[in-house]
Amino acid sequence: MTRLYTCHQDLQIIFSEVIKGFDCSIFCGHRVELEQNKAFDSGLSKLKFPLSKHNKIPSMAVDAGPYFKELKNTDWEDAKAFAFFAGYVMAIAERLLKSGAITHKLRWGGDWDGDKRTSDQTFHDLPHFELIEVAV
Ligand SMILES: [Zn+2]
Repeated sequence: MTRLYTCHQDLQIIFSEVIKGFDCSIFCGHRVELEQNKAFDSGLSKLKFPLSKHNKIPSMAVDAGPYFKELKNTDWEDAKAFAFFAGYVMAIAERLLKSGAITHKLRWGGDWDGDKRTSDQTFHDLPHFELIEVAV
């Protein structure tokens, strides 16, 4: 879980809560310049350093996904499992925001515009979760 410690406190609070009910892996928190530009070159990210929320200190984004004991890994081919996981994460983040435990909203890379649809976007980043400022 050391990767989670490179992340903003809100992300740490959210995923500490998630892990209690949903076995998951944290793939990436903060990304340094070299890692970010590698992610950009391979098409995993749309942004070059330092524009990604992964490049902030602490990181405002985290990549995470479901962990399956029998695979000792995630299943990268199982997009539905990522979506199922994301629903769980988003519900917890919403509850934590309402209770005042965190101060940011969470956005998922499978639903950038937050309309709960996944078919109305071109770039899918299913393990990606990022913090956004709450409009006052
Ligand atoms: Zn990401």
